[in-house]
Amino acid sequence: MAYSISEAKELVIRAGKILVESGLIQRTWGNISARISDTQFVITPSGLAYETLTPKQIVTVNIADGSYEGDLKPSSEKGIHADSYRLRPEVNFVIHTHQERASEISIDGKNWTLSLEEDKKVLGDLVPCAAYGMPSTGKLKKAVEEAISRYPNSRAFLMKHHGVLCLGKDLDHAFEIAQYLENVADRMYQQACKGKLYKKDGKIREYGSSERSGGHFTLLLQGTAKEYKIDALETDAPVQARLHAKIYQSSKMNYILHATDEDIVAVSQSGRSMSPLLDDLAQIAGVTLKTVQNAMDNTSAVKQLKHKNAVLLAGEGALCTGITDSDAKAVEMVLKKGCAARIYAKATGSREKLGLLDASIQRMVYVKKYSKKKM
Ligand SMILES: [Zn+2]
Repeated sequence: MAYSISEAKELVIRAGKILVESGLIQRTWGNISARISDTQFVITPSGLAYETLTPKQIVTVNIADGSYEGDLKPSSEKGIHADSYRLRPEVNFVIHTHQERASEISIDGKNWTLSLEEDKKVLGDLVPCAAYGMPSTGKLKKAVEEAISRYPNSRAFLMKHHGVLCLGKDLDHAFEIAQYLENVADRMYQQACKGKLYKKDGKIREYGSSERSGGHFTLLLQGTAKEYKIDALETDAPVQARLHAKIYQSSKMNYILHATDEDIVAVSQSGRSMSPLLDDLAQIAGVTLKTVQNAMDNTSAVKQLKHKNAVLLAGEGALCTGITDSDAKAVEMVLKKGCAARIYAKATGSREKLGLLDASIQRMVYVKKYSKKKM
């Protein structure tokens, strides 16, 4: 049964908090909606933080044409939600996430045929994978619509190189599907990558993390924070401080962090450049992520970070940058997911690629928007 409008708005807000707490949704990524009638649903607005949403910010949208009420813009994926309600009368709650494992496994574009009865009970016999389309485009909407129409018994859908869509009869059901899907994906990931992961070797040098403020930056190295002047480093400043100073001289970013998650380190060991297999990585980090050798001794990392927000350090992880602390952490987060996806592709021999043009367009749009952000 559809919800009353006030109940639906409260549930969408609650779902946002639950999904962020559970780690299935990060930052403002993803979107959530609830049906209020045969003709309308309410959905999260575009680009606002889930933690502080109020009922007034939840937007009412018409299923027939995606038109909406009020001044606040609904999520740009409103069309996918509209199709979900139109094609599935039993569905009252829809969640779209970029959750880690399921997104990583979406890269090969294959449908999952489930064999365990317990999995089928929650997810249906099949988890279809919709063909790739850039976020917020008609192409993506059409690909998802096709998958929903073709597989009427499926409740969870992968969106290739991107994320997932979960259709529930209510909030609890949709959340259960999203969580269950993540568990099944994790099982598949572990099975596929067992014994095939990169071997970790060598010691990782500490590159330090830093924050710029005016002409200075504070570098946190070996547990100690020290301030340096960007354009006038002391002669005895450590090599890490020199590297950070050079990055600040050539980039507008204010935060630099050294990411040493094991998947990132593993991929950095391959020594090759990485083309993202997930579109969020291409968007917020860069279209081709280079691996540089001996980054402390030369300017190759500095050069990469001039136009990108991440660079892989051969065998030593990556440097991630952002205008704010949380932006740099977001880069680290999508890089970790992107590296795990790369490891999965290697383990399964998948040759699927995210189109260079699609990746470039998303990066360009993002950089343009991001550069307007308050420094
Ligand atoms: Zn998305």
